[in-house]
Amino acid sequence: MITIRDLKKEYVMGMQKVYALRGVDFDIHRNEYVSIMGPSGSGKSTLMNIVGCLDTPTHGTYHLNGQDVSNLTDNDLADVRNREIGFVFQTFNLLPRSDCLGNVELPLIYAGIKSSERKKRALDVLDRVGLSDRVDHKPNELSGGQRQRVAIARALVNNPSILLADEPTGNLDSKTGEEIMRLFEELHSAGHTIIVVTHELDVAKHSRRIINLFDGKIESDTQVDNPALAN
Ligand code: ADP
Ligand code: ADP
Repeated sequence: MITIRDLKKEYVMGMQKVYALRGVDFDIHRNEYVSIMGPSGSGKSTLMNIVGCLDTPTHGTYHLNGQDVSNLTDNDLADVRNREIGFVFQTFNLLPRSDCLGNVELPLIYAGIKSSERKKRALDVLDRVGLSDRVDHKPNELSGGQRQRVAIARALVNNPSILLADEPTGNLDSKTGEEIMRLFEELHSAGHTIIVVTHELDVAKHSRRIINLFDGKIESDTQVDNPALAN
């Protein structure tokens, strides 16, 4: 699904260059559940922005479902992004004036899906994240964990090939964070491909593979094969 080869990203800051990614290689297959870890400044956000088709590399290749997305124009990149990627953020990023249903329907409005079909699909995905009884609640009428569930439903409603989550538990208490990570495990079991960017091992241990970045390179890439670690 994802093939990344010799990926490099440099930022030009005036006369200086910052080498944020310095030659990164990996494949991610359908239905993998991967965490990307590493200390601050190691290149996690840069890699996530490229994998999520928000940015392009300065060197190397990125193939997503067979398509080379390393050199697309901003418009073409946006099309790929809307079709292939569902984003979940630390800060939820919900519309405060819309209820759960409205928030989840939003990507379908952009996709031009007609109203009755939108509602059906939004209700279905809200059910999958356990929010059937909250569809007409607004974000400020929900707990933090419920808000993140709405954001996950919104990310899933377009049937993206990849769910990409950036510090998804960063604004949640540890118990609620665990519940959200269990939801990711359920979604993984249901066949979704999930990539989580996190600096917390407690979050990463729920995944099945951990890629550790250090100074713009992959320091380790290991399967989480101890079931006790991932329960
Ligand atoms: P040279 O001609 O000596 O390779 P460069 O300016 O191309 O000079 O590169 C200087 C150093 O920075 C080299 O070690 C090169 O491998 C490294 N480098 C160049 N571009 C990148 C990049 N995008 N990411 C990481 N390292 C880079
Ligand atoms: P992390 O998410 O692991 O903290 P980042 O990908 O944000 O790492 O940053 C990697 C390196 O690239 C850091 O040295 C950072 O300062 C630099 N960097 C990130 N984004 C930019 C940018 N837009 N312009 C210039 N430098 C950047």
